[in-house]
Amino acid sequence: MIYPIVKFGDPVLEKPAAAIENFDQELRKLADDMFDSMYAAHGVGLAAPQIGISKRIAVIDVTFKEDPEAKIVLVNPEIIHTEGRITSDEGCLSLPEFREKVTRPRHVTVRAQDLEGKTIEVSGEELLARALLHETDHLNGKLYINHISALKRDMLKRKVRKLMKQGEW
Ligand SMILES: [Zn+2]
Repeated sequence: MIYPIVKFGDPVLEKPAAAIENFDQELRKLADDMFDSMYAAHGVGLAAPQIGISKRIAVIDVTFKEDPEAKIVLVNPEIIHTEGRITSDEGCLSLPEFREKVTRPRHVTVRAQDLEGKTIEVSGEELLARALLHETDHLNGKLYINHISALKRDMLKRKVRKLMKQGEW
């Protein structure tokens, strides 16, 4: 099933999501639906709050279907190590049409659980590091615009409000 993507302005995107405790068939179905929804929206990462489900699960595929091995499911992830810094353009399916330069760590290690509840560690650099951080942020109720200057953030919010008024958001 393909879910519509929740856009910025919906409070579900700005509250911490609930820990997942049941590693059952329903969770596996949710992960499948999240990959389908992410690919349909042309994204390389998606967190459950972005489809209106306030639970700590995110999916990532920075190869966008090219490498099936690159599909990552993170349940209850936490960032356990970061190193370096890199500034790059970043966007979010919940803020369509917008992109900003965001500085983040270059290398990241995340500890999470897989769909069976087993503890895993995933390390990545550059785009994958960015995706691991971006999606974990979502589960903590944070968006990439929390990492840009207040001035740029206000400008972006003003543009979003204008789009909302025009019924284009
Ligand atoms: Zn996002």
